Amino acid sequence: MNRLDHLRAALDKLDSDHLRRVRRDIETPCSPHVVIGGRSFTVFCSNDYLGLAGDPRLAEALAEGARRWGIGAGASHLVSGHYLVQHMLEERLAAFVGRERALVFSSGFMANMGIIPALVGRNDAIFADRLNHASLIDGMLLSRAGVHRFPHLDMAALERQLAASAAQTKLIVSDSVFSMDGDVAPLRELMALAERFDAWLLVDDAHGFGVLGPQGRGALAEAGIDGWRLIQMATLSKAAGVSGAFVAGNSTVIEWLMQKARTYIFTTGSPPALAQTLAASIELIEAGGERRAHLAALIERLTKGLAQERWKLLPSRTPIQPLIVGENASALALGDALMEEGLWIPAIRPPTVPAGSARLRITLSAAHTSADVDRLIEAINRLEKTL
Ligand SMILES: *Cc1c(COP(=O)(O)O)cnc(C)c1O
Repeated sequence: MNRLDHLRAALDKLDSDHLRRVRRDIETPCSPHVVIGGRSFTVFCSNDYLGLAGDPRLAEALAEGARRWGIGAGASHLVSGHYLVQHMLEERLAAFVGRERALVFSSGFMANMGIIPALVGRNDAIFADRLNHASLIDGMLLSRAGVHRFPHLDMAALERQLAASAAQTKLIVSDSVFSMDGDVAPLRELMALAERFDAWLLVDDAHGFGVLGPQGRGALAEAGIDGWRLIQMATLSKAAGVSGAFVAGNSTVIEWLMQKARTYIFTTGSPPALAQTLAASIELIEAGGERRAHLAALIERLTKGLAQERWKLLPSRTPIQPLIVGENASALALGDALMEEGLWIPAIRPPTVPAGSARLRITLSAAHTSADVDRLIEAINRLEKTL
């Protein structure tokens, strides 16, 4: 076997393990109602929680931004690729989440891969929830710090690990809303432990920003935590409906990250027109009380409507509502059966989630109607008896 044959055999093994992933080429803009291959589908797997990704006002802001600022940034931010509109967006974001300063990255993955190695290194220690997002895991590996992973949400285990650590600099890392489970970290307890053990606390609010807290200011605003040791990261690609991410916190910390985060320094600035689009998105998030109320009503409708005889929902109050099926093949079969009926929720399998907990990660959006959710409930409750 040559090297290419090894790859082919490994790809074949993905097939036989039911782990091969496929993409679908969507023919319409992001919305709960899309067309693929000429067929209509209702989507329950997007992170566009407020339904802003396809909002014509954002498309208009992008077009206007492109006319005003052109397209490319030309260089990295610290060379000649930083624009006034991006500075203004950072000021707006910092004020919105109530922190001193914010720094915008091109994506959430890049933010996490840059923030963590800028804060800790070889002689330091990181304490991380086992279910943290892949980008946090890769950021930890890049940092070369010692890594202690604690069982999901287990504050007693975290406390024991912190107490036993002699590391000079300690960093606690957690998702706010866990991306595959939809549950929310005990943020006040995490903050109290960070204070007690003189650790930094990095919270990834990818799925809380725009959805939780007053005016959608995020999970940290909801929990009411603040302080220089709290570093807040959130993506601008989920509820905000655009692209990019930001980190917010104490101004000295943000200045340090700007000086040291390699994924900020050594990449071309994102298109300035995107900053103008994001500024429009923040306005829509802030004024989005009705969207959030509708979303909350849809979450309640789904959790009350599903029979949950064989397949159970995980406890979650967020738009992420995972239905645990178990085996990879069963989750795939359910996903396929729903797809046949025009309902799109792909199965999530290991390594994204632990083995034996393959699931349909149902996500709801303020752009769904009650009728959309009723159709999903009816189909799942029927398939639970017949599949
Ligand atoms: C999506 C996600 C990211 C990555 O953000 P992108 O902007 O999509 O790169 C980081 N953390 C969490 C928890 C996420 O869900």
